[in-house]
Amino acid sequence: MQHPLYLTNSLTREKEQFVPLKSPFVGMYVCGPTVYGEAHLGHARPYITFDVLYRYLNHLGYKVRYVRNITDVGHLVDDADEGEDKIAKKARLEQLEPMEVVELYTNSFHDSMRALNNNPPGIEPRASGHIIEQIAMIEQIIANGYAYVSNGSVYFDVIKYAKSNDYGKLSGRIIEDLIAGAGNERRELEGQEEKQNPADFALWKKASPEHIMRWPSPWSDGFPGWHIECSAMSKKYLGETFDIHGGGMDLLFPHHESEIAQSKGSCGHPPVKYWVHNNMITINGGQKMGKSLGNFINLKEFFSGEHKLLEQAYSPMTVRFFILQAHYRSTLDFSNEGLQAAEKGLTRLMAALKQMHEVKATTGNGYDVNELRRKCYEAMNDDLNTAICISHLFEGVRVINSVYAGSEKIDAENLELLKKTMQEFAMDILGLKFEESSNTKELDGVMQLLLSIRAEAKSKKDFTTSDKIRDELTRLNFVIKDEKEGTKWSKG
Ligand code: ZN
Repeated sequence: MQHPLYLTNSLTREKEQFVPLKSPFVGMYVCGPTVYGEAHLGHARPYITFDVLYRYLNHLGYKVRYVRNITDVGHLVDDADEGEDKIAKKARLEQLEPMEVVELYTNSFHDSMRALNNNPPGIEPRASGHIIEQIAMIEQIIANGYAYVSNGSVYFDVIKYAKSNDYGKLSGRIIEDLIAGAGNERRELEGQEEKQNPADFALWKKASPEHIMRWPSPWSDGFPGWHIECSAMSKKYLGETFDIHGGGMDLLFPHHESEIAQSKGSCGHPPVKYWVHNNMITINGGQKMGKSLGNFINLKEFFSGEHKLLEQAYSPMTVRFFILQAHYRSTLDFSNEGLQAAEKGLTRLMAALKQMHEVKATTGNGYDVNELRRKCYEAMNDDLNTAICISHLFEGVRVINSVYAGSEKIDAENLELLKKTMQEFAMDILGLKFEESSNTKELDGVMQLLLSIRAEAKSKKDFTTSDKIRDELTRLNFVIKDEKEGTKWSKG
């Protein structure tokens, strides 16, 4: 194996050497999306990060079981345990069955993930398909004395658990603050009076009469709390203790802290060896992304360019490259300039990847690729530093271009190793791929020209020409929309 891999473990806040529990097997669980809306940039980051980890572990020879769930029940409007079910709320708004909403956005999520070239996980369990497992785990927690039933709902007894366990260790929260209700401003919400302490969280909620997503349980017709699904499904597919649990830093508390408590509260030991968290994406100089702030851009809008904050469309690989140019633990600020710079860099890299197959080996001593290859491994082994790895790949780009131009030498053996290194790191590990129309700007220029000819023809009442342009473009799967501000086009 090429040097040991180190990952930052959120539990110890240190870079630790990755040693699987049962090498060569690796179990990895990543919190999946709540499918009540389109996937956005905030979704792209964790799923690209853990896709790269998945790809890299496979590259290193591990046999990885990657599980990523679909949250299709019981995830509430806010991050508190109370309130309205997100999916049920959306369903009422759109007059759809909740499971229609789930299906619609699950399919759309998969489309976006495919576009970003994320490999699908080995197992993608749905919370709604694992109600039985969740109920069984809650029963175990009650039997162990760490949960209580209150008015048909079940709550985890944080106070009792914290007496003999380090609740708050992962997230750095202090139990006394949580008991006092700090950071729990939603106390007045429905259900709070059922709790023995504000720090307690719901394992099962009794459904109100208007709540449409509900299942029978020993305590009430209701639905599981948000956190229990990940504990129950990771245990089912990866065992009581597994290697890696991933997700965004926003999930540290309460979600992942609660997962640890639930697992320890039911089977007595911690569920995860390495907790790995990616940092958040902010917008235009550090602003939080949020629907209410109007700066919420979903992935399909990035790909089409149809959002007021976007100056142009950005291809899925541009978004992927943009995200990988930062280390996963640093914050990443979205801006048009940042994405445009990423687009330029990506174009240069992909052009070299095409070009390298036409490069001919030279005779005599030339460039030694071994050092470049070693540095690429070193970057990836150092807590998955894709940003540094990319900078080394640009050294590869430089070599390809200068050998092609005849200003540098490379022998046959090194040329083969260079091709292998570029292919493996850029494509197999970072997951970049050639895109059909990477020349979006050129295409847009051509389209604008065609549409202006069409507009001119129309103004001269030359409908034969204007109709011909529209019909031909439609036949080629372009969507042409005449709007007040002018004609817009998109690829259907
Ligand atoms: Zn989760």
